[in-house]
Amino acid sequence: MTAALNAAGLRNLTARLASVAEPQRAAVIIAWQNRFFSVLRARRRLAVGLARTRGLAWLNTLQFAGWLLLSIGLLNDAFDPGQPFSALGSWRRLDPAQIPWWALCAGLLSAHFIAVVAAWRIHRRLYPKSTDERANLIFSALLLPAQALRFRMVLLRPLAQGMAPLACALAAGTPETARVAAAATLLDICHPIRPVGLPASIANLVDEAAELARPAVERALCAATTDGRTGLRPAELLAPPADAPPSACAYCPRCGDSFVQREGKCPHGVRLRPLHEIAQESF
Ligand SMILES: [Zn+2]
Repeated sequence: MTAALNAAGLRNLTARLASVAEPQRAAVIIAWQNRFFSVLRARRRLAVGLARTRGLAWLNTLQFAGWLLLSIGLLNDAFDPGQPFSALGSWRRLDPAQIPWWALCAGLLSAHFIAVVAAWRIHRRLYPKSTDERANLIFSALLLPAQALRFRMVLLRPLAQGMAPLACALAAGTPETARVAAAATLLDICHPIRPVGLPASIANLVDEAAELARPAVERALCAATTDGRTGLRPAELLAPPADAPPSACAYCPRCGDSFVQREGKCPHGVRLRPLHEIAQESF
């Protein structure tokens, strides 16, 4: 899984924040959050990536079919004790009946190099600054033909960098994936887990970060809802557990566990709520 944030992304954000005066930093962070959670941006990036790799995907499909055909031919001959690997025979004494097999090998070799060149060109257009990643991709594909059959996945995966998992799930995921991502993000916003072992002044930054992200998350969910997706209502996603045992009288709004005591905190440090309480969030 590609990380939504990498070291380079955080370094860029930190440098941007350091270059502006302190009163303007909140606006910079909000603008960054809007881009991070933008479903529209995720859709556009995915659409561009899919369009540029469509031809390569067709070529990879033909390559896979060719490799499959060649493997079946070689395996068929391998199980014939009289003519082991006779499909290809010997290039010194070429039998006319074996010409199609050699043509298939030549076609596969040509398709492999065409796919490698196409992947190099697409990678250069999508990620012009990622020269090291491009060199690694091409080198491994040249050595391992099987690697070239998964070019589309390798080329599209980095598109998720710099975008929130919620935005990616809402833009391209199944309804269930979108629901899981929306619930996980809402829990992070509404019931953040504070890091242990840190001073309260630092641990409480989690609350400030959650409040800064809240409008962007709200916009992302609204964008998905207006597109016709259902089941992304915050009140439903944050609802108490429906399968709590009869003896339970409280639940943790973060992890959904139920408890028999009414007061207290769950092992994650989140204060318990009465089980009959319906979650009323401010979204
Ligand atoms: Zn909990």
